[in-house]
Amino acid sequence: MSETKNNYIVGDKLSFLKQDRKLAPKRQVSSRQQDFLEIYEKKSDTDLIIQADRCLDCGNPYCEWKCPIHNYIPDWLELVANQQFDQAAQLMHQTNPLPEICGRVCPQDRLCEQACTLNTGLGAVTIGEIEKTIADKALENNWRPDISQIKTTGKKVAIVGAGPAGLACAEYLTRRGVQPTVYDKYPEIGGLLTFGIPEFKLEKSILTKRKKYLEDLGVEFELNTEIGTDKDFEELSCEFDKIFLGMGTYSAVDGQLPGKNANGVLAALDFLIGNVNQQQGYLMSDVTYHNLKNKNVIVLGGGDTAMDCVRSAIRQQAKSVKCIYRKQEGQMPGSKTEVLNAKEEGVQFIFNLQPTAIESNSSNQVNSVVFDRTDFNALKYKDKQLIIETDIVILAFGFRASPPKWFENAGIKTHDSGLVFTKENDLKTSDKDIFAGGDMVSGADLVVTAIAQGRSAAQQILNELANNK
Ligand code: FAD
Ligand code: SF4
Repeated sequence: MSETKNNYIVGDKLSFLKQDRKLAPKRQVSSRQQDFLEIYEKKSDTDLIIQADRCLDCGNPYCEWKCPIHNYIPDWLELVANQQFDQAAQLMHQTNPLPEICGRVCPQDRLCEQACTLNTGLGAVTIGEIEKTIADKALENNWRPDISQIKTTGKKVAIVGAGPAGLACAEYLTRRGVQPTVYDKYPEIGGLLTFGIPEFKLEKSILTKRKKYLEDLGVEFELNTEIGTDKDFEELSCEFDKIFLGMGTYSAVDGQLPGKNANGVLAALDFLIGNVNQQQGYLMSDVTYHNLKNKNVIVLGGGDTAMDCVRSAIRQQAKSVKCIYRKQEGQMPGSKTEVLNAKEEGVQFIFNLQPTAIESNSSNQVNSVVFDRTDFNALKYKDKQLIIETDIVILAFGFRASPPKWFENAGIKTHDSGLVFTKENDLKTSDKDIFAGGDMVSGADLVVTAIAQGRSAAQQILNELANNK
């Protein structure tokens, strides 16, 4: 057993009984409603150590198996408990190129923390928060892995898309001597981490630090470059040994609701991107900022995107914000933590209402939504309609694949759904030199699953490059 500076004894096998699970406190709701900054306060080193020390090291780390990238969780918790923060950061980066981001946005209540042995009444170890805080410290201190022993292979890989899948692929390759160049049509890296997920969940300065880290490791970025428009895909085929596609899914599902084209009906991602663009001053010309100040807002949907919209609307000083979902609360697909945060911030939730039409006035401005009431199976009750007045409707029904037209010429096959076809147990597309991963292969999913595929594709690319010497 060892002692921390505040007299806390580390290594006490019963610490999980003596110390409760404790997350960092959240900022006051009244201040959260006024700005887009993250809502959690910083944790002290002593608190971090105490929380890490609660890990039972149970021998069969279910948390590690439930984590899609199989982080070495108990091992880095032990390092944190012993104040070996740099070593913990190093171990985290062996499996996760973006630990500060996963620690913030992973739905831990469905993944690692759900599987924690202590999550049976004693409260799971605060895995996500510890991962985030240790990685933040490492980036703040300019920590870099030792890459002095890496031998360059002379091979080059083009990566289309700087979202989590593309970044994970790039990091994995550069640490193994392959030169990645990442292309993105947006002016910043991150994909939906930057142009989707709002600042109150993930401040954009974090992506700036991660970009510097990746550049220091040797990753090259070509931003504001849309492949197929600003640069032809064929050029990539000529210039690079292999190509990885991590282009996401961007066709918004609109539910085919009658009246959906009225003014004041917004697609969730358009609203969120407009907000980021305005706040960060990116000035993307084809993006519109929608100001919801003093408006009555209805958000239709119940996932993470819907939560990001309702909480952004609150921060834009909307008059009222309602989240309306067709099933029951327990059936909502997103993170429970985010629903709780939204409730605290003043969002009104209404369940078991299925929208059937959007109504507008003579100037085609939306003024209400018509709903059918539903039972617990989301089946409609006959003759139980409800009309709710509103100024703005945001549709947050999810996303479908959006394959570009040039896929056909490039020989990249897709399923009927538009998702990219990859070979079984493989992330290789129908073209032997092109790999793909993330949302464009799996459908809209999670940051951590996109990372898992980016890494996996990178390993497959390395295998092929080694075989084709
Ligand atoms: P993306 O992140 O979509 O990145 C794709 C990139 O490819 C983009 O930057 C795009 O500009 C670029 N691109 C596309 N076509 C081209 C082209 N032709 N040329 C150049 N560049 C191109 N997941 C979580 O785990 N937790 C959350 O809290 C969470 N919240 C979310 C909130 C919202 C609003 C949304 C929409 C999603 C959320 N997700 C969340 C899901 C998560 O963000 C995605 O699953 C993840 O970002 C997918 O990663 P990706 O790399 O496959 O694609
Ligand atoms: Fe948990 Fe996500 Fe971190 Fe894995 S990457 S340990 S699932 S927070």
